[in-house]
Amino acid sequence: MDVRLGDGSMNALNFIGGHFVDAIDGQSIPNINPATGQLIGTLARSKQEDVDAAVNASKIAQQNWSALDMLERADWLDRLAEGLEARKEELAQRESKDTGKPLALARRVDAQRSIDNFRFFAEFARTQEGELFQMQDAVNVVHRKPIGTVGLITPWNLPLYLLSWKVAPALLMGNTIVAKPSELTPLTANLLCEVATEIGLPSGVLNVVHGYGPEVGQAILEHPSIGAISFTGGTETGRHVAATAAPMFKKLSLELGGKNATIVLDDADLDRAVEGAVRAGFTNGGQVCLCGSRILIHASIANDFLTKFVESVESMRCGAPEDESTQIGALISQEHVRKVESYIELGIEEGGCILTGGTRKMTGSVGPTPEGAFLRPTIIDGLAHTSRTSTEEIFGPVVTIHRFETDQEAIDIANSTEYGLAGSIWSKDTERAYELAKQIETGIVWVNTWLHRDLRTPFGGVKNSGVGREGGSWSLGFFSEPLNICIKED
Ligand code: NAP
Repeated sequence: MDVRLGDGSMNALNFIGGHFVDAIDGQSIPNINPATGQLIGTLARSKQEDVDAAVNASKIAQQNWSALDMLERADWLDRLAEGLEARKEELAQRESKDTGKPLALARRVDAQRSIDNFRFFAEFARTQEGELFQMQDAVNVVHRKPIGTVGLITPWNLPLYLLSWKVAPALLMGNTIVAKPSELTPLTANLLCEVATEIGLPSGVLNVVHGYGPEVGQAILEHPSIGAISFTGGTETGRHVAATAAPMFKKLSLELGGKNATIVLDDADLDRAVEGAVRAGFTNGGQVCLCGSRILIHASIANDFLTKFVESVESMRCGAPEDESTQIGALISQEHVRKVESYIELGIEEGGCILTGGTRKMTGSVGPTPEGAFLRPTIIDGLAHTSRTSTEEIFGPVVTIHRFETDQEAIDIANSTEYGLAGSIWSKDTERAYELAKQIETGIVWVNTWLHRDLRTPFGGVKNSGVGREGGSWSLGFFSEPLNICIKED
């Protein structure tokens, strides 16, 4: 188990072959709570030799795990879900401490979805039917085989939510896992390992190695026995992941950055659109890949929309994560706050005007400490849609405003970035919205809603937002190799 110190601090050890262990060379990394600036523990600083040990453990476990029937593995997913459910409050507390996000949000989104991911894939497995292709004189049977050991690399913004989204289908298809969570948010990956121990998940099926991306992440990418990499993170890192893994012919799934448009048409229900734009812009402090960081408004309603939007953003409660009424907590680190601030400065240099925010002053009833990584939600108007501020991913509580006159202009602005992950359209005319949605270069478009997820549907991006899709059968397809067996009939 990870070590819990008397002051509530926690040390995240590696989980290899069913044991919690230090990095082989004994090195560790401090883990800081970004809302307080305080040390909450350490995590193992793993290297190549730790990855070797994790891969060896996963290979030993592989034969027995893959020999189970998929429905037996689905039962294991249910047990993992039950184990997480029993520790749901602790899960939310750890996620909030690691990320600085509001505890209420961590409960509602991170903890709930982590549990749901296991339950969903368990249930989904039970609906699967064999794939058969009958010919006149033969039958083709598609047999799905596991890849073997798969590498999972995940970011800090939704730590266990995103890790479990990969762990569940990878295990279901009979693979064994070497996972690396972000070094900024190790605590809930360890909670999952604790649950795995509690429920008696076979040793070596799930292995977690902590540490820095260029050290332990790189070792996962380069390991010759890891047959697939499922990566979620930034576009630049994704480019490096692809450049390293593709020449080794590893299977690759890349879920990368976004700069998504929220498009408000002239016939939108204004109150609903404002509420949606606030949620899309600032959930998790704007640190969701799907966040609508560019708000495109029909010029005829722009003034009315902006009056309500600014008022709504200014009423958001920003402060200490443990305050139940907090809507915006801390960002992931002081370094990240400085990065986001540098974009606000760039926005001003590029001719933008700050309608609200842009400062670190908070409004929550429990005042955050000065060491906390806080930043007020910020709206920038007056920027060209081609400006750097409007096209580069900021990944913080900053949105830019753009006006358009025609649907075609909205499409052109929406498509004018290198990214193509998601977007939302707000209109009372759903047919018009549907026609427009088809022309947006992204993987997902929501109409009159945002982040409304059916886990059976394809999730992923186009352009520089990624390669491949996750979710439902797309995940099962990625984490398996289809073997077609053609049987000649007499
Ligand atoms: P990141 O810096 O790209 O890191 C993602 C993961 O990659 C982390 O675990 C990181 O480890 C690791 N990593 C870094 N360098 C590596 C290397 N050389 N080899 C292997 N692994 C390496 O991204 P982030 O800042 O954590 O997350 C924010 C980004 O993720 C944003 O761009 C956001 O849009 C994107 N995101 C995308 C989705 C999606 O579904 N499309 C979902 C969530 C987030 P360290 O933490 O140790 O650096």
